[in-house]
Amino acid sequence: MALTGLAIETHGLTKHYGRHPAVLDLDLRVPRGTVFGFLGRNGAGKTTTIGMLLGLLRPTSGEAWLLGHDVRRDLNTALRRTGVLLDQPAFYPYLTGRENLWVVAQALGGTAGQRIEEALETVELAGRADDRFGAYSAGMKQRLGLAAALLNDPELLIFDEPTTGLDPVGQRAIRTLIRRLASETGKTIFLSSHQLYEVEQICDHAAVIEAGRLVGQGPLAELAAGRDLETMFVELTGAADIATSERPGS
Ligand code: ATP
Repeated sequence: MALTGLAIETHGLTKHYGRHPAVLDLDLRVPRGTVFGFLGRNGAGKTTTIGMLLGLLRPTSGEAWLLGHDVRRDLNTALRRTGVLLDQPAFYPYLTGRENLWVVAQALGGTAGQRIEEALETVELAGRADDRFGAYSAGMKQRLGLAAALLNDPELLIFDEPTTGLDPVGQRAIRTLIRRLASETGKTIFLSSHQLYEVEQICDHAAVIEAGRLVGQGPLAELAAGRDLETMFVELTGAADIATSERPGS
């Protein structure tokens, strides 16, 4: 039974690849209106979880709800209200940014086409919208992916490692944009990350996953309970080797 007030909810969500357990008995609770960081080291099970939430992977067992819809029964309704950015946005290199958004809007139907200009403004690509996608920097490509995720005016945004592969300037631009989106629109934003600093900067809630198991979740202030995020992460996961090199000045 899905609880109102939660944008994402899972019960006992589990995925085995053959005999390998990638996600185990996951009970995730993502309150609406939060910026929620799904934090874990490489291979912890973040992408597998997102794949199950979006119906791209079939769970071995367990249940998942998006915006109150059971993804086994009502996936399309849930996805119509959800915007998604997975790690490599796929666009036509020979079309411009704006033309690519038109292609996405046609596929979405409805009023998506009317949001193209607004989405381009939001991601600060309006001035480069007539340049070919193939000529965009990695950061611009990612921002166009974000614009595409906004075209159906979603209540929930799901981003898988949105800054991975970007240089520090590109990373900062995406983080600023996500923070702005959250504060200006109140949309629920669920993002996976292996970077403590990123979650600290952007998120107000988090869940920590380690070797497929959820080891903690809740408001960041409660999770950290006066400790810095790195100490919390090491305590929850036993991971002494977590990289914090992305933190400016460290
Ligand atoms: P990363 O940050 O590196 O993307 P992640 O937290 O997203 O990591 P997953 O990609 O979900 O982790 O992987 C979880 C575990 O499942 C890892 O041990 C991974 O090797 C394994 N795995 C992922 N996809 C497959 C697959 N298609 N077949 C077999 N094993 C897989």
